[in-house]
Amino acid sequence: MPTRQIEWNVHTLGQIAVYALLIIPVGFLAYGLARRVRMWRIGQPEDRFDQWGTRLRGAITQSIFHGRIVRRRNRYGGLMHLFIFVGFVTLLIGTFIVMIEDDITVPIFHYSFYRGDFYLGYKLAMNLAGLLLIAGVLMAFYRRLVIRPKQQDTSADDLVILSFLAVLTVQGYVLGALRLGVQHDDWAKWSFVSYALAIPLRGLSDGWLRALHQVNWFSHFLTTFAFLAYFAYSKMMHPFTSLTNVFFRRLKPMGELTPIANLEEAESFGIGKLEDFSWAQLMNLDACMHCGRCLEFCPTFTTDKPLRPRDLILEIGGYMADSGGIFSGELGEGENSARFRWGEGPERELIGGVVSTEELWDCTTCGACMEQCPVFIEHVPLIVGMRRNLVLEQGEFPDELTNVFNNLERLSSPYQFPPSQRDAWTKKMAQPIRIMGEAAAAEEEVEVLFFVGCLGSFDSRNQRTTMALARILQAADINFAILGKEETCTGDPARRIGNEYLAQMMARQTVETLNQYSFKKIVTACPHCFNAIKNEYPQIGGNYEVVHHSELISQLIAEQRITLDPASDVASGKVTYHDPCYLGRYNKVYDDPRSVVTALPGAELTEMGRNRNQSFCCGGGGGRLFMEETRGSRINQARVTEALETGATTLAASCPFCMTMFEDGINGVGANDLLQVRDIAELVAAAMLTMTETETLREGDGAESAEDTESTEKKE
Ligand code: SF4
Ligand code: SF4
Repeated sequence: MPTRQIEWNVHTLGQIAVYALLIIPVGFLAYGLARRVRMWRIGQPEDRFDQWGTRLRGAITQSIFHGRIVRRRNRYGGLMHLFIFVGFVTLLIGTFIVMIEDDITVPIFHYSFYRGDFYLGYKLAMNLAGLLLIAGVLMAFYRRLVIRPKQQDTSADDLVILSFLAVLTVQGYVLGALRLGVQHDDWAKWSFVSYALAIPLRGLSDGWLRALHQVNWFSHFLTTFAFLAYFAYSKMMHPFTSLTNVFFRRLKPMGELTPIANLEEAESFGIGKLEDFSWAQLMNLDACMHCGRCLEFCPTFTTDKPLRPRDLILEIGGYMADSGGIFSGELGEGENSARFRWGEGPERELIGGVVSTEELWDCTTCGACMEQCPVFIEHVPLIVGMRRNLVLEQGEFPDELTNVFNNLERLSSPYQFPPSQRDAWTKKMAQPIRIMGEAAAAEEEVEVLFFVGCLGSFDSRNQRTTMALARILQAADINFAILGKEETCTGDPARRIGNEYLAQMMARQTVETLNQYSFKKIVTACPHCFNAIKNEYPQIGGNYEVVHHSELISQLIAEQRITLDPASDVASGKVTYHDPCYLGRYNKVYDDPRSVVTALPGAELTEMGRNRNQSFCCGGGGGRLFMEETRGSRINQARVTEALETGATTLAASCPFCMTMFEDGINGVGANDLLQVRDIAELVAAAMLTMTETETLREGDGAESAEDTESTEKKE
């Protein structure tokens, strides 16, 4: 019956020696793991122990099935990792199977399963897994040494790990080949790689083959032990750290930042030292596998600014390793527990020493890094946490923000306009716009609250979007009102900038205003307002149904509550759509704005290379709209260039921040004659038929259905 003798050609003393020696690398591994876990525990408490089923499912999907690793635009790297992972794990399982047979089932239960069909299948699977692993390792060497993608850095650690994997696999094959050279199993072809390697060994005597087998057997174990000992002190730790990181990932909406609790009583603010991170954030720092996927769509990396999200994580992770004695020294006790180390660590401050303030201020909080990271590292909360420390504790922030903070405090908006001008745009409308307070005083019902936002209220370019949306709502006969002079900033820019004090003040003020009134849902054209109201207001008792205008307009078109003029040429030709980060990545609204664009008569939607969750930022989020862009090239111009490359003449936007950045970007690259940026509401309003025109068109068609009539009547 097909099988083989385990530990063939190895003296019992040799087997005992190997088991005795195993204690050393296992000790190293256990020590390394314990140090890391102990390091994480110096962090602040954070509840990540809920929803175990969801956590487990995510860990399996992401780790075993490589959910985020194999992605479009990263097939090579994804498949490479998949090959290494599947090959390595299969071989590891194979090793445990042999140990179970040799150390448990045979000696204890006198039962052997390592024979017959199982054995043949096992041999085939192990030979295939080894090939997969070697293919992955060769792809990795090729990528790191030949392709050298911009976002990939290669350290000695990477090459050592890949070499270990290659050597261990080859040793395994050679062991099989040397044994087959002596034993000539009838079923040897099932171990097809070892069988092929055994062919050139046929000229060697049994004595030589046995001697070589023993040398190879011991060296295989020594290599394994060295790898095990190295494991916990190298990037190879990532199968453990990334699995735990994925398991304990944040399950709240991506767009929700955790507020500072009890702000009034807090003695320190944000993250200024290692102990200020939560334990889960410290675990984040250890989970990074240096893959560089977070760089590919990062606007700061792509435009040569100092912030590189991977490096940020590695810099702080290295600081933690140094400070916490992952490699050296004992952890101290109490307040300065993470400060003890040998060398230069304690003298370096986290902000300004390990991480530069330029890195922190350059972030647009676009979330591309978090969306791409295969192990769910959360860069944005770390960056905002350190910004909070800079703003609230150190009083250090770019000069341009002084006015923003003053305006928010005095005028409830980042701009220097008095609240009395918030509804100035309504005077330009042909039909009156109802104000919520007045409607409530008159005891009139309001179905939809149109939350205009600061840019939509005060900025003349974005007022055009506001008016367009109001016209659409009127045309669809929607019962809506605005807050008017009562509206205040949602607090989004202040929160992302790190001024949590102002953010909470603005958010509470807005929730207080909203809670005075009765309405069914909120619509807004600003993804930043949308995100804050949807994801952050529930933290302070503001629970509302909120939709982005792209969702509502898409629905109105689908329900034929607004009709577009088939002869309209407002967007004829190629139109490219830009996904705003706070609508797309943060809230997964991708299809509605596209369905609006494709509904425009004559419009041909053409996608930019980077789109949907792999979209590229406009450069205006995270408070960057209010700051000068002094480092690297300009993000908005990079995106406008990408839009121009599609051949589109219209760049469709659905965010006032993007609108402002793109108007500036189009000017900057001198493309005013080639490309226009229009909000989808502007495009729809311009292509929309008036009621009279709609009726005439339908009568002219002579194809009026009962449903159409009802729909037209509704509009009347
Ligand atoms: S949030 Fe955006 S800008 Fe900030 S580090 Fe991540 S990818 Fe870069
Ligand atoms: S942070 Fe995530 S995406 Fe970036 S290098 Fe580390 S593991 Fe890769």
